[in-house]
Amino acid sequence: MSDTSKYDYDLFVIGGGSGGVRAARVAAGEYGAKVGLAEHDRYGGTCVIRGCVPKKLMVFASGYAATAEEAQCYGWDIKPGPFDWHGFRDRLNSELDRLEDVYRSLLDGSGVDKFDAFASLEDAHTVKLSTGETKTAKHILVATGGHPVRPDLPNADLGIVSDDIFHLEKLPKSILIIGGGYIACEFACILKGLGVEVTQYYRGAQILRGFDEEARGLIAESMRSNGIDLHTGTNIVEMALEADRNEGPQPTASDASMGASVKQAEDMRVQNDGAQAGQRGPIWVKSTNGGEKIFDMVLFATGRDPSTKGMGLEEIGIEIGRRGEIVVDEYSQTAVPSVYAIGDVTDRVNLTPVAIREGMAFTKTVFGDEPTPVDHELIASAIFTQPEMGTVGMSEEDAREQEEIDVYCTSFRPMQSAFAGSTSRVLMKLVVSKKTQVVLGCHIVAPNAGEMIQLAGIAVKMGATKQQFDQTCAVHPTMSEELVTMRDPVRTS
Ligand code: NDP
Repeated sequence: MSDTSKYDYDLFVIGGGSGGVRAARVAAGEYGAKVGLAEHDRYGGTCVIRGCVPKKLMVFASGYAATAEEAQCYGWDIKPGPFDWHGFRDRLNSELDRLEDVYRSLLDGSGVDKFDAFASLEDAHTVKLSTGETKTAKHILVATGGHPVRPDLPNADLGIVSDDIFHLEKLPKSILIIGGGYIACEFACILKGLGVEVTQYYRGAQILRGFDEEARGLIAESMRSNGIDLHTGTNIVEMALEADRNEGPQPTASDASMGASVKQAEDMRVQNDGAQAGQRGPIWVKSTNGGEKIFDMVLFATGRDPSTKGMGLEEIGIEIGRRGEIVVDEYSQTAVPSVYAIGDVTDRVNLTPVAIREGMAFTKTVFGDEPTPVDHELIASAIFTQPEMGTVGMSEEDAREQEEIDVYCTSFRPMQSAFAGSTSRVLMKLVVSKKTQVVLGCHIVAPNAGEMIQLAGIAVKMGATKQQFDQTCAVHPTMSEELVTMRDPVRTS
């Protein structure tokens, strides 16, 4: 029930992304609270406007060339033609406009007051808007998400970040991607599928740090065999616009064959003149191993920081952590009792469905009078590489540190692509507690692994044992049937 005798609102939400919008809608629609929400950019936030949704549509777009080639082996007279970036990009942007409208309508339908403005905190109950207005609320929820960051490197602004990809005037001929996380690996595969020459530098020994080693190893192997020039143990140390370099070493013939030749680079500079940032011409790059190369474009996929700048949070006593995140307790409450925070701005588990759950738990706690901590255990997720990785629970390495385990794993050429002559492999893996036989982790590398892990994740979350997996009859012929037919452990410790 609303009680706005003292304040303008029961709840004021800052940030119109997936988490903030869900919390606002539920507080207003289910609990009858009077809610205001401020968003200074587009409604839908990172996931809808510049993350998961446009990325997944690009994943679909990038898969068609290989599908067309495979179809030929299945008897179809289909030839992959050129990719029309403008046609696709315009359609993509229309879809994002439609989704943004849906988000706005959902808020309107729930009776939430929208403010298209930047919001900062004046005190524990007062929000100041960039329009000059001030609003008071009994509770304030900060759901401002995060933003991509470039490394601290001279000329780093010559590189683009993931937000920029969806607006490119044209696709580059060659790109260097820096980083080895979700975004770097996903865009390496997407852009390769769209016909871009992709080079990727990752500073560590193996991409996708933190995931199961066998699974990340297969992703790296698949990316390389798909033609991505992946260099591990390598980072960027210098970069400059090729046109601005008056002197210095030129790339060698072998370097030029991997990027573009100096002549080609000059031609491209002319073509790109006047194009947007990130397309200002070929970029010269020097790497930690001393190599020098030229790329049309550089993408920094070097992580994301929580978005808290200029919001006056610390000034009113909210604790900010080492990575710039808002520090919250298990109920998403900050050090200032009337202020809560959810989603990427808290840097807990940075995934859209988690932010939505945190928003739901917040409304239940504050408006439903039912204190509800968020369960961050055994969250399944997928990396939309080519092939995809789906994962839930512990990696073999983490599980082994905790207890003795049995590892069940199989890797094979799947029927569909093997028929077409491909040597690509998939992987199905279960990490099992030796003592309890509970499945501690499930890791899948395969086409559509994201869809598979959603379902396997239910069993793992329920605490299913290896025997219960085995009692489940196989669905034949599928790739995932291997998850219920692996009889003997490949490793045991
Ligand atoms: P990640 O933190 O996953 O990866 C950042 C990468 O950049 C790491 O490989 C890191 O190396 C490297 N890096 C960081 N700083 C530097 C530097 N100064 N120089 C060179 N390399 C550097 O971030 P992402 O941006 O890929 O993704 C952000 C978050 O977004 C993820 O945590 C994920 O939760 C979410 N996301 C989820 C997706 C999904 O669910 N499919 C898709 C995309 C994003 P190192 O490993 O050595 O630290």
